[in-house]
Amino acid sequence: MLAKVAIDLALDRLFTYEVPEALQKKLAVGQLLSVPFGHREARGFAVEVGANGTQDLRRETLDARGLTSKVSSPKFKLRPITAIVDETPFFSEKLLELVKKTASYTASPIESVLRAALPAAVLKRSARAKELLFVEKRDQGLGIRDQGLTQRQKWLVENIERLGGGWLQQLCRELKTTPASLKTLSEKGLITIEVRAKRRDPLANRRILPTKPLPLNEEQKRALEAIEGEDLRRETGDARQGEDFRRKTLDGSKVSRLTSSRPVLLFGVTGSGKTEVYLQAIAKELAAGRGAIVMVPEIALTPQTVSRFASRFGDRVAVLHSALSDGERYDEWHRIRSGEARVVVGPRSAVWAPVRDLGLIVVDEEHEPSYKQDELPRYHARDIAVLRGAVEGVRVVLGSATPSLESWMNVKRGKYELVEMRSRAGAGTLPSVRLVEMKGGSIFSPELLEAVHLRLDRHEQVILFLNRRGYSTSAVCASCGYVVTCPACGVAYTYHRADSCLRCHVCGGWVPVPATCSQCRSSAFDFRGIGTQRAEAALQKCFPRATVLRMDADSTSRKNSHDDLLSAFRRGEADILLGTQMIAKGLDFPNVTLVGVLNADASLNLPDFRAGERTYQLLAQVAGRAGRAELPGEVIVQTRDSDAPVMKSVLRGDFADFATEELAARKECFLPPACHLALIGFRSKDLKQVSNWATMYAKSLQRLKDVRVSDATPGALEKADGWYRWQIVLRAVSASAIVRAWRWISAERPVPGGLRVSFDIDAFSIL
Ligand code: ADP
Ligand code: ZN
Ligand code: ZN
Repeated sequence: MLAKVAIDLALDRLFTYEVPEALQKKLAVGQLLSVPFGHREARGFAVEVGANGTQDLRRETLDARGLTSKVSSPKFKLRPITAIVDETPFFSEKLLELVKKTASYTASPIESVLRAALPAAVLKRSARAKELLFVEKRDQGLGIRDQGLTQRQKWLVENIERLGGGWLQQLCRELKTTPASLKTLSEKGLITIEVRAKRRDPLANRRILPTKPLPLNEEQKRALEAIEGEDLRRETGDARQGEDFRRKTLDGSKVSRLTSSRPVLLFGVTGSGKTEVYLQAIAKELAAGRGAIVMVPEIALTPQTVSRFASRFGDRVAVLHSALSDGERYDEWHRIRSGEARVVVGPRSAVWAPVRDLGLIVVDEEHEPSYKQDELPRYHARDIAVLRGAVEGVRVVLGSATPSLESWMNVKRGKYELVEMRSRAGAGTLPSVRLVEMKGGSIFSPELLEAVHLRLDRHEQVILFLNRRGYSTSAVCASCGYVVTCPACGVAYTYHRADSCLRCHVCGGWVPVPATCSQCRSSAFDFRGIGTQRAEAALQKCFPRATVLRMDADSTSRKNSHDDLLSAFRRGEADILLGTQMIAKGLDFPNVTLVGVLNADASLNLPDFRAGERTYQLLAQVAGRAGRAELPGEVIVQTRDSDAPVMKSVLRGDFADFATEELAARKECFLPPACHLALIGFRSKDLKQVSNWATMYAKSLQRLKDVRVSDATPGALEKADGWYRWQIVLRAVSASAIVRAWRWISAERPVPGGLRVSFDIDAFSIL
């Protein structure tokens, strides 16, 4: 018997071992093993297990990129596995299948995917369950042996019973006693003191009030039916036929869902009650003995979001996110694997949660860029969720008020089922949206200033939103707002300071900065946006008596400061919240009646093919912030380009219209989702080396027929921390053609030390 093992050393291949007799019965895929490696022992996961006779297993080793390589020579003697470290597998067969598919789709080493799928804390010795002494009253205690007890001792035993026991240290503090006195009681047989694992609960200090399901409105009912519908039909359908369709889960006990069910795109305006629909869909899964995963963008993973799930499902909820301690993560992960926790709430990594008898995966705000991981393995968690749904035969729900064009196209192609919710579920109506055309260099329009004054007078709150442009810049005419754009790709040129020219990052073409604007003949181009600090200063000047909270990457770098700032604003400690993209989503402030967008164009002018889509999403999400409670809301959008189709669609709140137009434009220019797009990134401290290699890669790849390859260009941020960056963009209808091209070139032309190359399939942006 042989086993293929992934060893956590980023070796990008699997190693084959002999399985000794003694281990053959116990060995299973997903187990953590100890194996000889060189002159030492290494740990690794069993990824494949097969009989000795399987020639495939012996002679070919499938490496993590999916390339097969022959095991050295026939004389090569396989070494035996030393031991099984943990008999309970860390990965189910299904999860391993998902890991392998992810590794091959993203061209990432399988170990990197395994590492992403299993929190490091789970394997850390230091994170192991914390064991403490627990004190409890013995069942047949007092009464039989209470003679000879002092008043004080009787009182202690009674109180230990009243409290239902407790941790030794805590009890001593509460009952003002000592461990020695309790030990005496235990020797008398009145109480027990034993070692127990103490759960490290991330929600321990949170007050969570239980909630009941709300009666659903018509739209919500339809959404819920769509999510569970097919399943019900199936279960009540022809029994014989049903039997063929049903598949057993790993332990063979429960019937799991069908693979054939399509993902549902729940397209509901902000506040339409999507979360309530998720909650009730999950409740049904729990009632049927199945579990669920709820993914939310990292930034929306606020205490309020988690509380909504914990309030409904109590201890059955496990939370996984980056702010957990190792101990909390260890305990939460084990609670999920053991089946004690049935509902997992977390960011993109939650897609790997080892939930038992999984029945449903929810991806909330499915359009959010934070679902894409920007380090190895560069997977998109929404896509992995859909893949997991197919692999495990569970239903996937993607929710958003502004769906990604990828998902929208999948609806159009019949791959996803669309359910719409157009009206708000709770109090409040959608706010009115007003566009204000900006002239000159001012930050605030008279209309916005007046509206802010009005709110301050009424003691209502205001959110002002500054669309930041970050490091990447485009050339914007300072007088008319025209943006210089690549005619072939329809994407704004990126301004490169080093040689002051404009480059298109899709095709690699370039032009010098024009002397005058082609629209208005003015000669001044603006390459930078307004910063939050400048806006804050201007705001203080206009409203000296108002309290302003500024929220951006600088003001929220401290842990928890994000939550602290938002709580302070919620408590009414400030009149105006000024911030970047950060404040655009997931927040619910009842007293906010005005939202102002200071520079709507900044993201529209980004030299990226998703600029229009991102702008629509940001504006729609921002608009959703105002007037969520009883007070009516108003949104003022300042723009230099009120004729842009995006602005008009936002004004009408017409996503479908926008999406149709944008999809047509993407198709026209051969951009995602009409194709797949990948980015090859080069980094080096040596400018010559990076440009030579990028150029050479581009030239070689351009000879391929099935992939469209750009010229090499410097990155939007050409140099950072002493590293020069260049890139190439690859486009093709099929993702696998791109991955094949990458595998070919990286094997053909391995780069020298000092040069780092990365590959990002379905790159979120080309900046
Ligand atoms: P979304 O997730 O779509 O933004 P939420 O689920 O947060 O919307 O719901 C918005 C508000 O409407 C919340 O305050 C919620 O409690 C309320 N709500 C949701 N469903 C109902 C319902 N059926 N009846 C009354 N209020 C509801
Ligand atoms: Zn102009
Ligand atoms: Zn171009």
